[in-house]
Amino acid sequence: MELISVIVPCLNEEKAIEIFYESFFDTVEKFNIPVEYEVIFVDDGSTDKSLEIMRSLSRRDRRVHYISFSRNFGKEGAMLAGLKAAKGDYVTMMDVDLQDPPRLIEEMYGALRSGEYDCAAARRADRKGEGKIRSVLSNVFYAFINKISDTEIVKGARDFRLMTRRMVNSVLELTEYNRFSKGIFSWVGYRTKWISYENVERSVGDTKWSMSKLMKYSLEGIMAFSTKPLALASYMGLMCLFVSLVFICIIVFKTLIWGDPVAGYPSLICVILLIGGIQLFTIGILGQYMAKTYLEVKKRPIYITKESDL
Ligand code: UDP
Ligand code: MG
Repeated sequence: MELISVIVPCLNEEKAIEIFYESFFDTVEKFNIPVEYEVIFVDDGSTDKSLEIMRSLSRRDRRVHYISFSRNFGKEGAMLAGLKAAKGDYVTMMDVDLQDPPRLIEEMYGALRSGEYDCAAARRADRKGEGKIRSVLSNVFYAFINKISDTEIVKGARDFRLMTRRMVNSVLELTEYNRFSKGIFSWVGYRTKWISYENVERSVGDTKWSMSKLMKYSLEGIMAFSTKPLALASYMGLMCLFVSLVFICIIVFKTLIWGDPVAGYPSLICVILLIGGIQLFTIGILGQYMAKTYLEVKKRPIYITKESDL
């Protein structure tokens, strides 16, 4: 029988893990498809009882496994650890808060079995139950990243998707340190079937994404999949050059015709501040990319496993 591996990253989810476990198996056992499941919980450095719950579930049920990190490495690291450990012919990843409805797996599996697709991914049709500012910022992010990146990042796409073994192997070939999975899944290619569903609110607990974490994640995504911001310095430099040439011409002519000495102080300060600002801004962008490169060359592990039953 074919095996579907389910990767579930968890950070301080003691309330959600058992609810997920029950509801997941309840749902998939009703499917009419001949597959087995393995669920791999990845404990991303939780400080609550999450790990204990995972341990006891894995003792009780042979289909359940767990990996525990030595500290919080982020959801991207947790997903990678799960992908590496997964043995399935198909692999999916889901949030533990049931925001990714398990009922979609049957349809996803059907799409992959038809042989036409290598990936079936969920996308939220709306962002119901989410803050206004969050929705607006996320729209801005998707518009911006798709403008400046050659890799398409589909709006509303979740990490929740079912992939074939060959696609998973391709994803695993990307060993970069700064991981942005939504981009990686799109970058490796293969045909993806999109399945829309209505946003589901979290079962229990709170979102683990603060505004600042989301901001950082967006910047990571932009920098991982576009180098266009680096060219900004050249464009702005050219623009300044052009403007200053025009100014020089105007001043020379004015002086020649009227002999008018320019009263320079205020304009000088403005120009110095403007150019200084542009320079610092672009050096900052350069620095950000350098920092990423620095982390990338150090080749540190993306996560450290403290304990696992695999
Ligand atoms: N998560 C994680 N590490 C982190 C942050 C989140 O493993 O540093 C897990 C979290 O436990 C959950 C999933 O990633 O299973 C998605 O997180 P959350 O539901 O908080 O995000 P949201 O649905 O609000 O985007
Ligand atoms: Mg969630």
